[in-house]
Amino acid sequence: MTNTRYRYNCILTVLLLAGFIFTSWFSLLIAKQSLFRGIENDALPLTSHLIHTDLQKQLQAPIIISSQMANNTFLHTWLANPDKKPDVLFQYLRQTRSDFDAVTSFLVTSDDKTYYRYDGKYTTLDAQDEWYQETMDNAAPYTLNVDLDPRDDHQATIFVNHKIMVDNTVKGITGVGIKLDHLKRLIDKYQHTYDRKIYFIDHKGRLLFYNDTTFTHYSLADKFGHHGAKLLDNKTYKLRLEQENTTLFINSRYLEHFGWYLIVEQSLDQDNSVSDSLYINLLMGIVITSVILFSAQLTFNHYQKRLEKMATYDKLTSTYNRQAFEPKLQLELQKARNQFSPLVMMMLDIDHFKQVNDRHGHLVGDKVLEHVAHICKTVIGERGTVCRWGGEEFVVLLPKTDLAQGREIGDAIHQELKVSSCEVKVTASIGIAQYHIDESEDGLLKRADAALYHAKSTGRNRSVLAEAA
Ligand code: GH3
Ligand code: MG
Ligand code: MG
Repeated sequence: MTNTRYRYNCILTVLLLAGFIFTSWFSLLIAKQSLFRGIENDALPLTSHLIHTDLQKQLQAPIIISSQMANNTFLHTWLANPDKKPDVLFQYLRQTRSDFDAVTSFLVTSDDKTYYRYDGKYTTLDAQDEWYQETMDNAAPYTLNVDLDPRDDHQATIFVNHKIMVDNTVKGITGVGIKLDHLKRLIDKYQHTYDRKIYFIDHKGRLLFYNDTTFTHYSLADKFGHHGAKLLDNKTYKLRLEQENTTLFINSRYLEHFGWYLIVEQSLDQDNSVSDSLYINLLMGIVITSVILFSAQLTFNHYQKRLEKMATYDKLTSTYNRQAFEPKLQLELQKARNQFSPLVMMMLDIDHFKQVNDRHGHLVGDKVLEHVAHICKTVIGERGTVCRWGGEEFVVLLPKTDLAQGREIGDAIHQELKVSSCEVKVTASIGIAQYHIDESEDGLLKRADAALYHAKSTGRNRSVLAEAA
């Protein structure tokens, strides 16, 4: 029984813990996957879309202004005039800049590559001004160029460089420069609220501008490895990089209008909160397993006791049943043999019990049975064991008791039956036999039974001592 129970407990513990570990791990996996999917499929594309929309909105006006400048008759006339007077140009640029509230406005002549600025300064372009060549090489009427202004907290200024076309020839480049304050604020917001990095790169993978002012150098290859090239080849690209303790999510979108790639990056710590929740789940699992095991033990004990009782005692009289009595009898006989101690067996049968049933009904008969059993148990106390041998017959086993003591006990039972009150008064006949060391179990029973028969045949309500074996 103990072994079965131990095995049952082990199996239950293993099953419960395995169940908890599996469900915790599985739900963690699902939660992680849906979090990852949410970032990849919703959060990052949405951020990218919002930034793009904002950028489009902010660049709409400067592009229109630059286009108007490029088509302005005054500029065309000025450029065509061999005797160019810069003053009138400066005045025009100044006016345009202040009308539009731009950071700067400019014009570059294509023949001598002079760069005129609204504030009256002019310089000649040099090799560093790559944007000039890029604009010239670009088939589109304008290009956008970004410069970080070192005098102003590295704030990005976006230049719209619009070609001035006269008879299919580029006569110059003009446009305005604006600060993307609103866009910067939006990017900052994403950076701080969601810990997302947002930046733009050009078609060569060079960083255009970035909201982190400490950022100085950028190489697509260093950061994304072979994915860098794929990113530039695709209009949209999703990337997940597993790094030491973080997962990096990257969403790239090609902004056709600008020729830029908008990159939104989110890093997620494979953090403690995830493993914490696993530990909490497991801890809960252990607690729940313990509670279940504990209550299983209680239930087990309860049913075990009930089963043991059912298997050991007679339901009506609460005396031993024959099945449980047999091993007890063998044990006591063994002890008596080993210790040379006396042992007495009594066989008791209620007199005319059939009449009780016939006259008063079975329920009363049952009550009488209970009553007789109770008297036997009370008289015998700790001295022996009472067993319901069958019907209205009881066997009483009295270790360390000799025949004389057995007779006294028998008399005490007769006396109690006489004086005690019960619905129907009954008497009993008793056969008493003392065990002989060489005698078998059956022999003892037969002698006690014979003595009982003798008691019955000699008038009932008496004890008869069995003949010696
Ligand atoms: P005697 O004095 O010779 O022993 O006569 P008796 O009537 O006691 O003996 P008999 O063997 O003729 O009848 C025993 C009766 O006991 C018959 C049976 O119906 C009844 N009996 C046996 N078990 C139970 C029980 O659990 N409840 C009740 N009410 N009656 C029982
Ligand atoms: Mg009988
Ligand atoms: Mg009887």
